[in-house]
Amino acid sequence: MKKYFALFVLVVLFYGCSSGPAVYYDVPREFLDTQLMNNSISDCSSGLSGLKIFLDPGHGGEDRKNTGPMGIAIEADVNLRVSLYLRSFLEQAGATVFLSRDIDKTVSLKDRSIMANQSGADIFISVHHNAPGKAGDNWTNYTSTYYHATESDFEFEQMEKDLAKFIQRDLAFAMRNSGGLGSFDGTYSDYWIYPKAGFSVLRHTEIPAVLLECGFHTHNWEEQRLALEDFNKIQAWGIFKGLCRYFKTGVPKISFFTEEINNGVKELFFKITDKNTIDPNSIKVFFDSTAVNSFLFDARSNQVKVSVNDDSINACDIRIIAVNSKGNTSFPFRYKFINIK
Ligand SMILES: [Zn+2]
Repeated sequence: MKKYFALFVLVVLFYGCSSGPAVYYDVPREFLDTQLMNNSISDCSSGLSGLKIFLDPGHGGEDRKNTGPMGIAIEADVNLRVSLYLRSFLEQAGATVFLSRDIDKTVSLKDRSIMANQSGADIFISVHHNAPGKAGDNWTNYTSTYYHATESDFEFEQMEKDLAKFIQRDLAFAMRNSGGLGSFDGTYSDYWIYPKAGFSVLRHTEIPAVLLECGFHTHNWEEQRLALEDFNKIQAWGIFKGLCRYFKTGVPKISFFTEEINNGVKELFFKITDKNTIDPNSIKVFFDSTAVNSFLFDARSNQVKVSVNDDSINACDIRIIAVNSKGNTSFPFRYKFINIK
């Protein structure tokens, strides 16, 4: 009984003596030690240096209505703060960062994709915070990361799901949130929200794209954390660490090498570049949306030779997918083949 009384006193002291509502978050070790922070960022530069990353802070300008029960965390502002801190971390690691907005202003969904497609960036990350489907629900909260389409859909890119997985793990860890019950790892297809369509920014953005719903600004406690700049910086750190780990692990890149005619058959050679070995059984080749098996992979040169045996093909998109020994799938690759006879 004595034990329970002591616990009661502790709880009263803890809650009763604080002036405002209790807001909890863990501070990463790097935030308490400048040297550790610098080392961590320079360690990430081996994966991130030279990369071009497009960040899209959701909403803003005329679209500022999303907020929580206390009205202290406006989603548009939280998205922007997290994105600006993330830009800073990425630039320190040697990446080039583009933003769809760096102030509070209106940017249409279509323009966000157009800007990203014209930017020459390698990847696109849209930063959002979530709200539940049911009005008045102030207790739902989790961290989730979305990729476009589902595995059976031709628009699906496994690479986007890989990227989502890496960001999700570190972001959810930094916030100490779960990934929700809708998936096992906190990554979700955007068809889960909008069947057969997905999010506009993921559908219209041609470079690899993911969308983060970092947490629920509608949650009674989460809103209070999201209103704090210090916490937004921790969120950005989580996203940064996920990106760092993803690119440091290595992602295969495919490029066109050369074209030859042997015994009247057109042969196209493609090169796979990666620091890891490529799983020879992982390679898939498509002519438009049709899987073909007229290809050979040479593990020594890391080249894929694709033969166009069918002379009736005048033009097609040759799509190639490869997976490395770490389980990361190649950046999306499509080659416009024109059969000049
Ligand atoms: Zn949003």
